[in-house]
Amino acid sequence: MIRIEGLTKRFGATTVLDGIDLQIGRGERVVVIGPSGTGKSTLLRCVNFLDRPDAGRISIGAISVDAARAGRADILALRRATAFVFQNYGLFANRSALGNIMEALVTVQKRPRAEAEARAREILSETGLADKADSYPASLSGGQQQRVGIGRAMAIGADLMLFDEPTSALDPEWVGEVLDLMRSVAQTRQTMLIVTHEMRFAREIADRVVFMDGGRIVEQGPPARIFDAPRDARLRRFLARVS
Ligand code: ATP
Ligand code: MG
Repeated sequence: MIRIEGLTKRFGATTVLDGIDLQIGRGERVVVIGPSGTGKSTLLRCVNFLDRPDAGRISIGAISVDAARAGRADILALRRATAFVFQNYGLFANRSALGNIMEALVTVQKRPRAEAEARAREILSETGLADKADSYPASLSGGQQQRVGIGRAMAIGADLMLFDEPTSALDPEWVGEVLDLMRSVAQTRQTMLIVTHEMRFAREIADRVVFMDGGRIVEQGPPARIFDAPRDARLRRFLARVS
């Protein structure tokens, strides 16, 4: 069980997250939608302290961190419990696909190199990139780079995978293969918190859709309810714009 309570983030005088409460069950897939600038990325980044929240509590399994008091060890524990998939892949340019997937296994999880490599090769097969093990990011397509990014997150075996618009930097031709890989991750009952503007995909993959506006959760529910019977006027306006 993942529990986010009263999560608050300000940039200067602007409150970007205004007391977010969100619980996510094990194996649940929650998709966050909402207008630009509404705090979706900030929410994901605050969950693993890529951005430091000003207040609130984040609990993942046995870990429970009060943002206002979080120390190094707390932050490390949260980072270990989560894996982040970035819009722009976030790969190390000077490491091969294999090296990128091995990185966290060796440096964060302190696994022996041989074991990390074996695990990374397994992941490369699962992501359909076995023949790209030695390729560097610059020689991979956008779709392949993002599959490495997702593979890296898979390899860690994190309690929670965070996806921030994983397809929005891709040429349209590469979107399908990345969504396919996310579907196969979902089939493993991995807990996923996904920000996406792919509304059809959201409807298909989500157990629950959360609509954010102005740093708050305005409405949430099963995808059919949110997309077919939206209640709040802001959600109705948003859906009219994006669909
Ligand atoms: P988008 O759909 O465009 O990705 P978003 O919902 O992910 O938008 P955020 O990126 O979370 O929105 O940004 C929320 C607000 O916080 C915006 O007004 C943004 O300008 C502001 N913001 C985000 N990061 C910073 C920062 N590092 N410093 C100052 N302001 C920031
Ligand atoms: Mg964003």
